[in-house]
Amino acid sequence: MTTYADCTFCGGEVEERHINYDYRRRDHLLVLRNVPAGVCKQCGEKYFTSDVLRRMDQSFHNIFERAQQPDQVLDVPAVNF
Ligand SMILES: [Zn+2]
Repeated sequence: MTTYADCTFCGGEVEERHINYDYRRRDHLLVLRNVPAGVCKQCGEKYFTSDVLRRMDQSFHNIFERAQQPDQVLDVPAVNF
């Protein structure tokens, strides 16, 4: 368990949860499941430790630059609004 500082936006208490995170960079989208994150109980702002950020970067790099097979490929609908 990681302990997080209070929320920098609202001062609320931040607790660790495992979340799904849509990681976008350039034209790519990678859905990361079960990511440990600090989530503000009041406003929902999310915080990641530097280790988790590094692992998310590594996953992105593995999938899009090293052609590693993902666990699943999703169909994502898109709408012009
Ligand atoms: Zn907050």
